[in-house]
Amino acid sequence: MTTERFAPSPTGFLHLGHGFSALMAAGAAKAASGRFLLRMEDIDTTRCRAEFEQAIYDDLHWLGLEWEQPVLRQSERGAIYQTALQTLVDLGLCYPCSCTRKDIATALSAPQEGAEQVFGPDGVIYPGTCRHRPMKDRTATDAVRLDIAAAIDHLGGQVAVSNLTYQEIGGARPETITLDAGQLIQGCGDIVLARKDIGTSYHLAVVVDDAEQEITHVTRGKDVAPATPVHRLLQALLYLSTPTYRHHRLIRDETGKRLAKRHDAMALRAYRKAGKTAADIREMVGL
Ligand code: GLU
Repeated sequence: MTTERFAPSPTGFLHLGHGFSALMAAGAAKAASGRFLLRMEDIDTTRCRAEFEQAIYDDLHWLGLEWEQPVLRQSERGAIYQTALQTLVDLGLCYPCSCTRKDIATALSAPQEGAEQVFGPDGVIYPGTCRHRPMKDRTATDAVRLDIAAAIDHLGGQVAVSNLTYQEIGGARPETITLDAGQLIQGCGDIVLARKDIGTSYHLAVVVDDAEQEITHVTRGKDVAPATPVHRLLQALLYLSTPTYRHHRLIRDETGKRLAKRHDAMALRAYRKAGKTAADIREMVGL
């Protein structure tokens, strides 16, 4: 059965772009007589707030959406992510990392021949400074990164990796995307699997949860599309199921910038206060 989900982080109020994503996912579930789930991606306890979580429920109800109960909350699933992380550690694919953003920026600014800064799903590509460090040396202030080249080798190298595919249905026509080892290494790099403060990361939690919730279709913004090859790789390493992906267009502000939490004026609740209806919101996002 088709199962879709909307997975917001309660770190601010939902804006028009979130509304679009939720309506798209719920609409696709309804069209397929499937299930629609809500998941609170609240692993980042430094930024998540109960007030924002409640606001998410209120705003989505106002949009006319219903979802199954109970809502899965990532903050309650630390032990499950820990087990997944340990699997990758036991495979010898991880290393501890003590680099700050500043360390990474400094390493990347060192003169390199023909170097051009490349951005991956989490910003600049990690330069590999800590890659030589063994896991047994991990301290309480270290994050854990995936050694992506080692992960590719583990799966059998480029040829094996090119057998890993996923369906993308967000474009003009459905596509089968094939993973490419070079692109993963150069375009994604050694992503963080566990932040020092929260014990997991978005990438690890999302693949574990999409599989556990038996999500068949992931509907989310194009901004997350660069992370999908990494998610597919993690699914292969952890023997998790792969949903079909629909990366939809982004809702932008009047200057063309994609919406962020700072766009208070475009928060769903601001429109509600201004007397708009759920039907107005649908129209505003082109649904
Ligand atoms: N919590 C993520 C976000 O709000 C979800 C992305 C996803 O759907 O995978 O961007």
